[in-house]
Amino acid sequence: MTSETPNTVPTPEQIRRAPKALLHDHLDGGLRPATIIELARETGYSGLPESDDADRLNAWFRESADSGSLERYLETFAHTCAVMQTRDALVRVAAECAEDLAADGVVYAEVRYAPEQHLERGLTLEQVVEAVNEGFRLGERRARAAGNRIRVGALLTAMRHAARALEIAELANGYRDQGVVGFDIAGAEAGYPPTRHLDAFEFLKRENNHFTIHAGEAFGLPSIWQALQWCGADRLGHGVRIIDDIDPGGAAGAGAVSDAKSGEVRLGRLAAYVRDKRVPLELCPSSNLQTGAAASYAEHPIGLLRRLNFRATVNTDNRLMSGTSMSAEFGHLVRTFGYTLDDMQWFTVNAMKSAFIPFDERLAMINEVIKPGYAELKAEWLFHAAAPDNGLTSASG
Ligand SMILES: [Zn+2]
Repeated sequence: MTSETPNTVPTPEQIRRAPKALLHDHLDGGLRPATIIELARETGYSGLPESDDADRLNAWFRESADSGSLERYLETFAHTCAVMQTRDALVRVAAECAEDLAADGVVYAEVRYAPEQHLERGLTLEQVVEAVNEGFRLGERRARAAGNRIRVGALLTAMRHAARALEIAELANGYRDQGVVGFDIAGAEAGYPPTRHLDAFEFLKRENNHFTIHAGEAFGLPSIWQALQWCGADRLGHGVRIIDDIDPGGAAGAGAVSDAKSGEVRLGRLAAYVRDKRVPLELCPSSNLQTGAAASYAEHPIGLLRRLNFRATVNTDNRLMSGTSMSAEFGHLVRTFGYTLDDMQWFTVNAMKSAFIPFDERLAMINEVIKPGYAELKAEWLFHAAAPDNGLTSASG
């Protein structure tokens, strides 16, 4: 390839078809609005702010999540969780999640949820996990029938304000060969440091299991430092505030590490550690804009973190609340930073390298699915000039 190769900015259609890997997506943050309305009717939940019109309900979720406060953002989950309290509802929501992601070109996803939030109507923790697993398998099969390939793994989340983290960690460990690939803690960061749940993380480490921790979203460096150095997290959920330990102007204090390639940029000890150890950052740009962690896509730290070659990944967080998808996230980044298919592939390979499934499977996914997928897209320009220009066909893609 020469530098003249028009492997430049992908079209929205190419972004959708490009194979994508997703590490940070909440099951209760990605329901279809019409499904919420139907499930509310079926299960007798009367608390919805809008119970007839899916478009209006969709808009309500967006507006509530746009308020700028993480706490209010989290309130929207009361409604989605309320309709996810029966086995059938969980199977349906999980199946639709897998189908929606697959239709968007996602080939690998780790979708997380908190089993303890689905016990209101008598399900046990095990029944919740088994229903969601069943739904993911059903969604994978339906996706395949529709011509899309996807593999979905579950992450079990414990709520950081609750006291069940060890129990949920044990649950995740018990189902590790049956669809559950890891563990997470989530919820408002303020006042609930991850070190409250050390017993859960120590248990998982003794079991050689994997976990990620929501850290460095609303709270800054201490939260990231605790998640890594006290809890031993394999990945950081968000981790976007690592930017606070990076001085783009080169005025960092003693002990800072300068980035050889970027000259002026200097990393503090923690940022250098995160980059040196290739700690995956589960970045969620649109979600961060809604919670106020970044002011605009252009100002989102993902631009600098990508330039500095952090192990950055692109994620959706909550597709319903943020009105987003993997393609939409990449679309924002392509428009803002001029990212090419090579950049998209870089983020996607980063995500796949950081997945919690076994190494040989990650490698096969990268070499047999992701790289060939991008190679095919990157070659499309070759055939555009040869396409007949007689107005009879536009099938150049
Ligand atoms: Zn999250």
